[in-house]
Amino acid sequence: MQRIKDALSTFHALCFGLILLALITVLFRLIPTYAYYFVWQSTFVSFMIAILLSIYFNKSKLFVLLLFPLFFTLCLAFPTSLFTKLSVPAFWHIAPLITALGYLLVYSLQERGLFSSFGILRTTLGLIILSIGYAGLKYFSPIIQKALDTPILHVSLQGLSKASDFILIITVIALGFIFLISMLFEAQSQKAPFWMLLAQMIPLLFLQESNDVILFSLVASIIAISALVHDAYRMAYADTLTGIPSRRALEERFLRLGSHYIIAMVDIDFFKKFNDKFGHDIGDDVLKLVAKELSHVKNGGRAYRYGGEEFTILFSGKKKEDCVIALEELREQIFRRGFVIRDKNRPEKAPKEMQQSNAVKKERLSVSIGMAMSAKGKTPQEVIKLADDALYKAKESGRNCLICL
Ligand code: GH3
Ligand code: MG
Ligand code: MG
Repeated sequence: MQRIKDALSTFHALCFGLILLALITVLFRLIPTYAYYFVWQSTFVSFMIAILLSIYFNKSKLFVLLLFPLFFTLCLAFPTSLFTKLSVPAFWHIAPLITALGYLLVYSLQERGLFSSFGILRTTLGLIILSIGYAGLKYFSPIIQKALDTPILHVSLQGLSKASDFILIITVIALGFIFLISMLFEAQSQKAPFWMLLAQMIPLLFLQESNDVILFSLVASIIAISALVHDAYRMAYADTLTGIPSRRALEERFLRLGSHYIIAMVDIDFFKKFNDKFGHDIGDDVLKLVAKELSHVKNGGRAYRYGGEEFTILFSGKKKEDCVIALEELREQIFRRGFVIRDKNRPEKAPKEMQQSNAVKKERLSVSIGMAMSAKGKTPQEVIKLADDALYKAKESGRNCLICL
């Protein structure tokens, strides 16, 4: 369920929305022909920004993949300087084929940064494919066209797109492959290539108009920029271990906090025993589990990792009783769930009957919570201090409880 939710996250919605908008713009001719001059200019500026950001953030995949739409945009913008004369059938055969093939091959190499041997290998591969594309455009002949247009299936797909069967099949394979691989990653810069390829293939396969190619290239570059910005934001504000917002995100949230809020400090009870008894990795797993539970806090709360095994939950503009209900529910849920330690020789899948299996052992897991309310003249840091005092009292009262000051 969570995976489905993630798949429908805002980034994917943004990419889908941009492509849909471009499609509507093209189909209903919303941009007058003379205004396309500005679209061409914006596309180049956007590409420059995207390429510079990909270099700055050391993302070799996006850097090389951006070269493909940039190259074909340049071909359309300067057909006579790059080629004596750019042949129209050559462009509508070579551009989609090289784009789809290039994405398929370039994406399959692992991301290890731009300034590494992998990065150099990827850039070289990208440039080789683009050089083949350039040669294809320059020396395109009726023989190449005939070879590409030869139906390779019994039932021709010719009616489905303006391109040949072969190009359509390569496109579907590339889109499917990139989509499946991108599911393995959290980073949006790994997911963006699917949408970038889709944005480029729509005009290359179905519309075959220069202005449409440029508009969709603009969309592809905006998708790349959004992914890079999104990842940079995540790096700055998400906790690397648990994935929930970090203390920096909490401090940033304090800057735009109203006058009425409630802060709860949550600390795992006897956490050291997990590290001492089972090792640091299991300790990390406990932190992840607790963070996941806390991130589902109800009644408008938001969980942050404050540091170590301490978390903060912030309720802005909520009633005290509602916060107490939400926090008590969390505390009980964590206690009820406990932490299941599975044997090293555990089977791949968790057994259905956890309790009956020898391979699993349930450890007691609980949290203590201290809660404090905002007050006139008190800074959020002072309210945190109060919540910490309440937490200390909760520990003294035997742990696994909530104390409110
Ligand atoms: P109490 O019930 O009083 O809170 O006891 P406790 O054992 O939870 O508290 P204590 O502060 O003594 O121990 C906190 C431990 O958390 C110490 C530190 O090694 C461990 N810790 C802090 N950050 C991490 C982390 O990121 N991963 C792991 N595995 N352990 C961490
Ligand atoms: Mg502690
Ligand atoms: Mg603790």
